[in-house]
Amino acid sequence: MIDLTGKVAMVTGGSRGIGYAIAGRFYEHGADVALVDIDAAGVEEAARSLTGRGTVVAITADVSSAAQTEAAVGTAESELGPVDILVNNAGLTRDGMLVRMGEGDWDLVIDVNLKGAFLMTKLMSRGMMKRRWGRIINVASVVGIVGNKGQANYAASKAGLIGLTKAVAKELASRNVLINAVAPGFIDTEMTRQLPEAARRVLMEQIPLQRLGTPDDVADAVLFLGSDLASYITGQVLVVDGGMVM
Ligand code: NAD
Repeated sequence: MIDLTGKVAMVTGGSRGIGYAIAGRFYEHGADVALVDIDAAGVEEAARSLTGRGTVVAITADVSSAAQTEAAVGTAESELGPVDILVNNAGLTRDGMLVRMGEGDWDLVIDVNLKGAFLMTKLMSRGMMKRRWGRIINVASVVGIVGNKGQANYAASKAGLIGLTKAVAKELASRNVLINAVAPGFIDTEMTRQLPEAARRVLMEQIPLQRLGTPDDVADAVLFLGSDLASYITGQVLVVDGGMVM
């Protein structure tokens, strides 16, 4: 039984989809939770919907902004105390073939998906090292491992997250701060609902388990990595994709 009573978890992009499922999992298992999202109304509503024993705080911030992430961490720590578990989940896509990809779409995806995780991880790691306990989980993607047509910016951001995970794992391990990534495959959320039906069908055919993943499938893997069950695991990428990439 995973018991996170007394722990504080912070989840970026926590107002919907995979981030919301992750926040819910930590909350169900006893943690106090800070939800961070750029969507002010969404994050307030998500926080209100988590009811039970613990405390939930909604924080509006853009993870690609150094000033806003610093303020977000300050708010979380003053309301809940030091953060023990950080989940860098906020992410977006701006798809297009490379030859037509604008610089703005490249920069935005790298800034949110990769720089956001760098900023949050840097802000959290000093305190975690001092306390000799910390868990950081980055939500990457199988696309960061195998690539995908039309997603050069997204694939680069997710491959970058995997590199960040491994480098920081080596830096922080001696202080019992563990950092891992999950790489979801094709998960049924608003992000993937934008795909045309034909593209969804083709993707489905590549999934040995013959179904799309759910946000809860990913949340369970993140919960495991955030818990004491994963005390001897760092710098790893746990693929959650129904067997699509082996
Ligand atoms: P989603 O679009 O439903 O949720 C993303 C959340 O991130 C939203 O609440 C959004 O408001 C928030 N967000 C976006 N930009 C932000 C910013 N600058 N600052 C703070 N918050 C911001 O997407 P999802 O499918 O739940 O994806 C969550 C994560 O999982 C993403 O990192 C995504 O790349 C990754 N992922 C998703 C899939 C999939 O199939 N859905 C597969 C692999 C990886």
